[in-house]
Amino acid sequence: MAVLDANVKRRLLPVVAHEDYVAPLPPGHRFPMAKFALLLERVRALGLTSPETLLKPGLVSRRVLGLVHEADYVEAVLSQTLDEQAIRRIGVPVTAAMAQRSRRAVAGTILTARAALKAGVACNTAGGSHHAFPGYGAGFCVFNDVAVAARMMQRDGLVRQVLVIDLDVHQGDGTAAAFDGDDSVFTFSMHCGVNFPARKQTSDRDIALAPGTDDDAYLAVLHDALGPLMEQVRPDLVIYVAGVDAHAEDRLGKLALTDDGLEARERLVLNMCAQHRVPVACVIGGGYDDDAEVIARRHAMVFEQAAALLADGEFGWAGA
Ligand SMILES: [Zn+2]
Repeated sequence: MAVLDANVKRRLLPVVAHEDYVAPLPPGHRFPMAKFALLLERVRALGLTSPETLLKPGLVSRRVLGLVHEADYVEAVLSQTLDEQAIRRIGVPVTAAMAQRSRRAVAGTILTARAALKAGVACNTAGGSHHAFPGYGAGFCVFNDVAVAARMMQRDGLVRQVLVIDLDVHQGDGTAAAFDGDDSVFTFSMHCGVNFPARKQTSDRDIALAPGTDDDAYLAVLHDALGPLMEQVRPDLVIYVAGVDAHAEDRLGKLALTDDGLEARERLVLNMCAQHRVPVACVIGGGYDDDAEVIARRHAMVFEQAAALLADGEFGWAGA
């Protein structure tokens, strides 16, 4: 972790990435694989990371995946023996490369959480696979990196209480199910009420927005929810699923946020964490457009805001 320590000392944003985040898919597949490489390129171009400061995750083990996922499911993914129905539900072919990618992304979010606990804030260039349930994957999600990272930080005794702030436009149903009846991980999902998944789970707090909700309405609801939540939950760690599919032009979203609205949202969430002295691990979640470059720019906003707040000393309480 020498690289991370150097990051913390220089108030540089810990950025987590790996070349395995991009796995080959059949041509024309609707999962936006290209965005992961373009996001890292964008983050580099903005001067927010360099080869020297980048953090690279290892591969998460079966045992750690087992903190959340059922052993039979993990085995079936890793040996590529899922049945057709299970693969259809995920919506991407679960090849050896996809299995490796999924393990890498989970390790990435774990590393991001660890880095956030040291630096105050850190960002993964993948993650947010919130539709993955303990026993099956769904909606492009194989393993639930958010849930596994929360459990891992608890298992290592680094945190007691976790708050998941999930602002992807789709409900964080897999995460809600994983922590059903468990108060030590509080799940908050703010999403569009009439979007995928058709059958919603019950998070500890759900806010279902109407289609077409715009910047002002969205930010007002979020602002009013977040402050009291931080007071009520008193988390030791926030895991922030910063899906950008709440954007007006997103292919799969039904809300009406602009670029400025998304930027203000990232600032609001990160500021709230900084002010409450809660470390925040950011994962990117969903974002869909035929132009992957456009999506990469949207995802980069949370990195930009995090880096700016870190440089300004807003997370100065961290690492003590
Ligand atoms: Zn989504």
